[in-house]
Amino acid sequence: MDFELSKEETREITKTGCFISIIAPAYNEYENLNFFYQRMKTVLNEITENWEIVFINDGSKDETLKELIRLNSIDERNKIIDFSRNFGKEIALTAGLDYASGQVIIPIDTDLQDPPELIYEMIKLWKEGNDVVYATRTKREGETFIKKITAHLFYDFINKMTKISIPKNTGDYRLMDRKVLDSLKQLKETHRFMKGLFSWVGYKQISLPYVREPRYAGTTKFNYWKLWNFAIEGITSFSIVPLQFATYLGFFVFVTSFIYAIIIITKTIIFGSDVKGYPSMMVTLLFMGGVQLITVGVIGEYVGRIYNEVKQRPLYIVNRKYGIK
Ligand code: UDP
Ligand code: MG
Repeated sequence: MDFELSKEETREITKTGCFISIIAPAYNEYENLNFFYQRMKTVLNEITENWEIVFINDGSKDETLKELIRLNSIDERNKIIDFSRNFGKEIALTAGLDYASGQVIIPIDTDLQDPPELIYEMIKLWKEGNDVVYATRTKREGETFIKKITAHLFYDFINKMTKISIPKNTGDYRLMDRKVLDSLKQLKETHRFMKGLFSWVGYKQISLPYVREPRYAGTTKFNYWKLWNFAIEGITSFSIVPLQFATYLGFFVFVTSFIYAIIIITKTIIFGSDVKGYPSMMVTLLFMGGVQLITVGVIGEYVGRIYNEVKQRPLYIVNRKYGIK
């Protein structure tokens, strides 16, 4: 089959580490893990025996770690990075990328929304010379209308505002070559918007359409507040347009108030003053106050991010590793 590797290729790859590294962040995914492993194993074994799954237990509160340890004991290709607390999916992915030893690396959700069977096609496209094969959803099943609309708006917005283009309807599910991973590892920022970073590094990228399935079990860990912050993260990490917007807004207010000032002065000179201007004064005052607060807020977003970056804290704390040196 065309996704299978020749003996020669397998041998070449085995020298460096394993062939396929799966990166699987898990936060309270206890019910999904066994099924995830079974389905993934079937797919991977068809391609090569030489694979690993790097699970990241992102501070789960349920039996996730216990289940992972069980999976590790029945198959040592299941490796675990156990975080000291919940650091969020982007950081969990980063840790997985740090420890992955494969020639090709595939981040995937553990709730089986991303079908593992797509990996055959990914490997095929990789063998044809693509460095990144990203899975693009054609349909989003089991997601609300509102979520679809907001996701759509977000991608439109971010692609207009930033110089890099982030493919629409694309999550973190993708295959990447070792060299792409090595480039990604050089990006050390604390605020990590992975989708943006994936695009930022460049290389030959190709889209692979697929249908996103509903969750196997459990519920989504994202709510609208998290998504909103995620969107702000994406925009501020890759664009300073909001800062420029503040400048233009300030300039606009300056010009209009200047014109307004001239009108008032002329009126006073011609008709004299009759101490009437209370409404217009209030409007101007409130308007100016509002504009100032917005711009200070925008600047604050960026200053806050600079603050977090300069602290240079480690991105995550590992409690314990299983199956990884
Ligand atoms: N996840 C994680 N840390 C978190 C939240 C989520 O590692 O703080 C993992 C989760 O276990 C799953 C993946 O990220 O494997 C995607 O999460 P989810 O399915 O909740 O997001 P959705 O598919 O609804 O966007
Ligand atoms: Mg999911």
